Amino acid sequence: MPAPSKLSHEKSHAEFHRARKVIPGGVNSPARAFGAVGGEPVVMDRGDGPYLFDIDGNRYIDFIGSWGPHILGHRHPRVVEAIEDALKHGTSFGAPTHLETVLAEIVVDAVPSVEMVRMVNSGTEAGMSAIRVARGATGRDKVVKFAGCYHGHVDALLVQAGSGALTHGVPTSPGIPAGATADTIVLPYNDPQRLAEAFTEFEGQIAGVFMEPVVGNMGLVPPKPEFLDAARQLCSEDGTLLGFDEVMTGFRLSFGGAQELFGVTPDMTMLGKVIGGGMPVGAYGGAAHVMENVSPLGPVYQAGTLSGNPIAMASGIATLSELKETNPYPRLEALGARFEQGLREAATAAGIPHSIGRVGSMMTLFFTSEDVTDLGTAQMSDTARFGKFFWGMLERGIYLPCSQFEALFISAAHTEEHIDEAITAAREVLGEISA
Ligand code: PLP
Repeated sequence: MPAPSKLSHEKSHAEFHRARKVIPGGVNSPARAFGAVGGEPVVMDRGDGPYLFDIDGNRYIDFIGSWGPHILGHRHPRVVEAIEDALKHGTSFGAPTHLETVLAEIVVDAVPSVEMVRMVNSGTEAGMSAIRVARGATGRDKVVKFAGCYHGHVDALLVQAGSGALTHGVPTSPGIPAGATADTIVLPYNDPQRLAEAFTEFEGQIAGVFMEPVVGNMGLVPPKPEFLDAARQLCSEDGTLLGFDEVMTGFRLSFGGAQELFGVTPDMTMLGKVIGGGMPVGAYGGAAHVMENVSPLGPVYQAGTLSGNPIAMASGIATLSELKETNPYPRLEALGARFEQGLREAATAAGIPHSIGRVGSMMTLFFTSEDVTDLGTAQMSDTARFGKFFWGMLERGIYLPCSQFEALFISAAHTEEHIDEAITAAREVLGEISA
């Protein structure tokens, strides 16, 4: 099908203006607002496999997949059927169900670090709870996070870097009391030396080191292997819990997540996105001796009226079962490599400085020639050029993340033809914006 030339967004425009009157900024999560690229978001009507359709009837090849969950594409038949079946039994009981144990067993079997797991409703809840458990289990207060890593809107972790020095955290958002981040140490990603210095300075005081083992939230930034190894070793030596936030990477980079891919096993793991197959599910888990601290088994309180919701569990079980049986990961890697090479050639042909971060089906084209290894290098990108790239691609029916500092996601519903269509569009757009 030929790419659309000039799309009409008339209905989207009207709907967004209506939403803005009653919803802050017209969106229920800021990343959707197109703030980083200017203009207004497109209002979606439905998804099908690799496609999204907006309310004006435009079709897009979707490279966001609801920001990660839809690794099987939209409305995968097995997932839809599982949800419909679960619905016949009721939507929520506030009591134990068979389905939550089945999903927990799948997670425990798949994720190397996880011997016990607790279901929650979002990645944010997973992060918030994991920190509490790390603090409760160790009897320590301090936590380390890395600049540019996002762990949901958890007060203690909603902190960016200081100016490169080893700083105590300063809240990124108003409304977070300084006390909530006073025990947060923010360090640069991929810098084992700085992490070692923090352990020297705060020896015996750090409850947990939390990181995205592959960063998706400053654009895609892979870890240096020595960084993960150093984190593992330093944590073990000081009795600190290493927490991998695999909300994006879990069941995406491999069935066992980034920890399986890189062979580094943390003490705690946060999950979300793919684990719910498009329904609101998060989870946190880890070694049994850590998770035994969680209420009602242990003293660390954490709860949820809708946690382990049967519809969400059914969606997660169907998604993970399909992933396990079909093992799409080698194919996703091949599609990712094809996309990366196509973008690299297109940007080179256009004479545009670029750098591409990719691990498997997660990727970012940065508009900088710097090797992007941390927040500082990511921020060297030409975000104005990214904005033009984004809109050029959208006009051609390619739906990309609306920020330079987000990763795109390829799904098992994409084919080589979809990737090639995106590369063709990119070649045109990059040619237009090279000046
Ligand atoms: N952790 C990571 C790595 C994420 O990418 C996100 C969301 O994008 C979260 C946590 C928060 O998850 P949620 O939006 O489900 O609260």
